[in-house]
Amino acid sequence: MSTFKDTLSREHQELQEKARQFAETILMPYELECEENDGLSPEVLQKLNQAVIDWELNAINHTKEDGGQGLTIFEQMLVNEELGKVTNAIWDVVFQPAYPLRFATQQQKEEYVIPTNQGKRRDAYAITEEFAGSDPNRCTTIAEKCDGGYRINGEKWFVTVGDVADYILVHALVDGDPEKPTVFFVDKNLPGVKMTRVPKFTHHFVYEHPEFVFEDVVVDETKILGQIGEGFDLTKDWFVEARLGIAARCVGGATRALETANAFASERVQFGKSIRDHQAIEFMLADMALEIMAAKSMLYRLCWDVSNKSDRKINHARASAAKLYCSEMVGRVCDKAVQILGGRGYMRENPVERLWRDTRVDRIWEGTSEIQRVITGNQIKKRGLDLYIY
Ligand SMILES: Cc1cc2nc3c(=O)[nH]c(=O)nc-3n(C[C@H](O)[C@H](O)[C@H](O)COP(=O)(O)OP(=O)(O)OC[C@H]3O[C@@H](n4cnc5c(N)ncnc54)[C@H](O)[C@@H]3O)c2cc1C
Repeated sequence: MSTFKDTLSREHQELQEKARQFAETILMPYELECEENDGLSPEVLQKLNQAVIDWELNAINHTKEDGGQGLTIFEQMLVNEELGKVTNAIWDVVFQPAYPLRFATQQQKEEYVIPTNQGKRRDAYAITEEFAGSDPNRCTTIAEKCDGGYRINGEKWFVTVGDVADYILVHALVDGDPEKPTVFFVDKNLPGVKMTRVPKFTHHFVYEHPEFVFEDVVVDETKILGQIGEGFDLTKDWFVEARLGIAARCVGGATRALETANAFASERVQFGKSIRDHQAIEFMLADMALEIMAAKSMLYRLCWDVSNKSDRKINHARASAAKLYCSEMVGRVCDKAVQILGGRGYMRENPVERLWRDTRVDRIWEGTSEIQRVITGNQIKKRGLDLYIY
């Protein structure tokens, strides 16, 4: 019998095993602490940051030259699948700095990118605003030309890791011109940068997603990432990496939920037999296994293709499909896992309960499920069905 693992090279199996061990021995022991305190202490976060570096799992998505690990998309997927088994998003301590940072100038690389990839600095990315979510063209944050550079004014919402990041990549319109969306490096300690609110969310994430106000924040011209007007172009390739990363974590999360439910179904006895011998439970386990098999087959194949082919548009369309399918799949699988565990499945101390809650956001961020369907529908209209079924 050949398994998914058997199809991997020895090098890839070793990478997967390293990520599995890191997830299980370094990250999972902190899950309950993170759940109970809605986060981890600065001391623990510092310890985990060091562990990420010691295990050479820092910046897997950036080149070695820039201080990262230089993994291919397929290799990143192997790591992210294992990390996705960890609840409370503790996987986010295994920092994967924003993809657009690779377009930084040499000066910006030395000041921001290399220290970030080495775990000495931390980035957050701020596009979303109160009136600009799925449609980022509605962004109103402005960067006006002034003496010495640009003056930024605006407000950003849902800035993940904004609580611990020391700089934010802020998407703003130069001179308010919708044709000039541009990304700026904004150090958090600059006058005028204010973290105004830290809302609570469904999950107990290792970091927060605060709101920021930028009031007359002045940055010089060297703080522009890429070119003026390139704000959206910088993020296009990122969607491929980020969406496949989410899809991989969803497959990992679903796998842990199924493993937990499968073990429980074997042990738990009701009405004189193991609950797995009640066909209702057995059918749920069967559906869960097949859902993961289908998602994983799609994910492995796409990540292999993306690692070996560089057709940007096709990669973009397929990554969107994988994110949609895997994020909806993990929701269905975790829901069944909760059901199989009965009352225990509804207890926060149980990983299936936390996975069920944690993975809900995967249908919202990096493009909602509806936006992924819009992309897929448009592709079918433009190119026919080739991309998906032939
Ligand atoms: C926990 C969390 C962390 C986040 N982190 C970040 C971050 O670090 N940086 C950042 O910039 N943003 C971040 N976001 C924001 C996230 O990307 C947005 O929430 C997401 O893009 C959706 O935008 P919205 O919430 O404004 O919803 P809206 O765009 O207002 O959508 C509301 C509903 O309308 C639907 N809808 C919208 N347009 C269409 C359409 N054309 N067709 C069909 N349905 C449509 C949506 O699918 C959704 O169901 C984060 C969000 C969350 C919840």
